[in-house]
Amino acid sequence: MRKVNHSVIKVQKTPYEMALEQYDYAVQFLRIKRGIVEMLRHPKRELTVNFPVKMDDGSVQIFTGHRVHHSTARGPTKGGIRYHPDVTLDEVRALAMWMTWKCAVVGLPFGGAKGGVVCDPKKMSIIELENLTRRYTTEISIMVGPESDIPAPDVNTNPQVMAWIMDTYSMHKGYSVPAVVTGKPIGLGGSQGRFEATGRGCMLVAVEAAKELGMNLQGATVAVQGFGNVGSASAYLMHDQGCKIIAVSDSQGGIYSAKGFDPRKVLRFKKETGTVVGFPGTEAITNEEVLELPCDFLIPSALEEQITANNADRIRAKVIVEGANGPTTRDADKILYNKDILVIPDILANAGGVTVSYFEWVQDLQAFFWEEVDINERLARIMKRSFVDVWRVSKEKKIDMRTAALVMAIDRVANAIMTRGIYP
Ligand code: NAD
Repeated sequence: MRKVNHSVIKVQKTPYEMALEQYDYAVQFLRIKRGIVEMLRHPKRELTVNFPVKMDDGSVQIFTGHRVHHSTARGPTKGGIRYHPDVTLDEVRALAMWMTWKCAVVGLPFGGAKGGVVCDPKKMSIIELENLTRRYTTEISIMVGPESDIPAPDVNTNPQVMAWIMDTYSMHKGYSVPAVVTGKPIGLGGSQGRFEATGRGCMLVAVEAAKELGMNLQGATVAVQGFGNVGSASAYLMHDQGCKIIAVSDSQGGIYSAKGFDPRKVLRFKKETGTVVGFPGTEAITNEEVLELPCDFLIPSALEEQITANNADRIRAKVIVEGANGPTTRDADKILYNKDILVIPDILANAGGVTVSYFEWVQDLQAFFWEEVDINERLARIMKRSFVDVWRVSKEKKIDMRTAALVMAIDRVANAIMTRGIYP
């Protein structure tokens, strides 16, 4: 057990407990051998590293990092690296498992992985961050490689961090290996469209949901929690579709305007001031209030366990598009389902990022690069097809979209294991 929500007595589950709860519920809808069911409840391998980093003041500080591979049944593993003070092995384990399901839902030839370092990057200089990244990369290099495990950005990591990872790995090899990591700057073998791919995926599934529900996107209201890579791109791409962005937030708080605002202007404001709070023409609201606003689309794009049994009753969105991984607990899922709120689950909604990461990896391996229009077109095809597949399973089996996505994903992974056979 991890966090206690101070407003209510309820003790929240850890992310891995949450991931297992979702998994255990979904496998009931499948016929899979008991041994395989048990196998997929466990990560394949986990590594924890404690390592020194030279700080600017001449001191040496010890950091802890993790890398977890959940499953290699469908191919090499893929998953981001997170820098955050609250990173735990339990959280990385959950995120790795969700990556396995995500890759399977959209049909990518990858298993799931995740990495994280316990640190507060906001309190570190650029040199300290580079030192930390290079040493962490070296420490986990027994797990990572273009044919074995390919990291990518996640919370508080960006194309620059990916460039240091690529360079460190390449220095050890003695030649450049761009395919070892995705989300790199374009000049180093990065892909067009990768930066906004996760947000674009969120927008694409939101558009599909609107079609199914007969919602008009012109003037549809949108609230976004978290205004980083995923949240900001989701917001401006929904704005481009004609939606009205009425609220966004970051770790310092939220902003609201009933009239709506231009998210690209908010992004520029955040670049200058470090936060969305104080954007002219908006009023300040709390992160909790952002989640509870009446709106057509709510896009949680920050961290796990934001919508729980404690606040699910007060959610007034019509559709929740999970930009973040694990923002909704299972108890909350049940409440939302009964309230007829459509939840497009993380393993589908935010799969645009790993999909374009897959394109980047393919381009790096072939040393042949595609144009942005090709990337966006292929991404749109995969996201739309995956949404339709999950929607169909959800209707056929009369289950929520998360369970439907999990049923599809677990079935694909279990089939891969069965077809490969149990070695030896
Ligand atoms: P990021 O670091 O770019 O942005 C995170 C944002 O969340 C920041 O604006 C931060 O201020 C805000 N935030 C942090 N704590 C908050 C809080 N308590 N309330 C409100 N806002 C808060 O990270 P990101 O890459 O955008 O990732 C966000 C989420 O999306 C994570 O769950 C991540 O795992 C998931 N995700 C990211 C990608 C990707 O391609 N980057 C892909 C799939 C899923």
